[in-house]
Amino acid sequence: MRSRIHTWGWETLDFLFPPRCAGCDKWGERYCASCQEQTKIISSSICQVCGEPHPGAISLVCQRCQTTEIFYINLRSWAYFEGPIQKAIHKLKYKRDLGLGEKLALPLVNLLQVNNWDIDLITAVPLDAARKRDRGFNQSLCLARPLAWKTGLPVVASIIKRIRKTKSQVGLSLEERKINVTGAFLAEKKLAKGKSILVIDDVVTTGSTINSCAEALMKAEASKVYGITLARSTRL
Ligand SMILES: [Zn+2]
Ligand SMILES: [Zn+2]
Repeated sequence: MRSRIHTWGWETLDFLFPPRCAGCDKWGERYCASCQEQTKIISSSICQVCGEPHPGAISLVCQRCQTTEIFYINLRSWAYFEGPIQKAIHKLKYKRDLGLGEKLALPLVNLLQVNNWDIDLITAVPLDAARKRDRGFNQSLCLARPLAWKTGLPVVASIIKRIRKTKSQVGLSLEERKINVTGAFLAEKKLAKGKSILVIDDVVTTGSTINSCAEALMKAEASKVYGITLARSTRL
């Protein structure tokens, strides 16, 4: 009897709140086939370090990576930050939707398999206290948790902390972005030491934030750091 009531409860919930596509608002799926088709995936011709697309370039490593100290081994992103995925990420940011996170984590599982990184644990770029207060949760963890379920890797959410306030990176130049996040993070040595760590974020632009997190992790004696994001913005 109890299980019947339970099931009835779920059916009622689904009836009252059927999922809506985060990319186009169509009823039925969390990220529909048509939106998946329209998502522009990043494939060939990328910087081998930071993953930035640079079609037609001769060098395998971009100018920025050649002139900046990079603390992670590789950074990769699934798709360009435009069209339906941009909308879906916006939704993930403002609505704690683990169902959507699970759907969007699937391409990240593939990306991990393709790159064949050897990873001990997953963590996320932390939000600052004010943003966490406003929003109540870290959207990157909505991707990290399903990624962990699917790969069997543990998520250690508390490994990196913000130790000072930063401005939003939106609208800042490359140099300003670097300055804004330099020294902004501290990693817990007893959690990081000797570990190969995957840092996840929803969107990357220049990679300064993930690089700063990687620097903190390496200072805490992590063995290596990789970065993964759902999308990549090519506009500063
Ligand atoms: Zn859709
Ligand atoms: Zn690069």
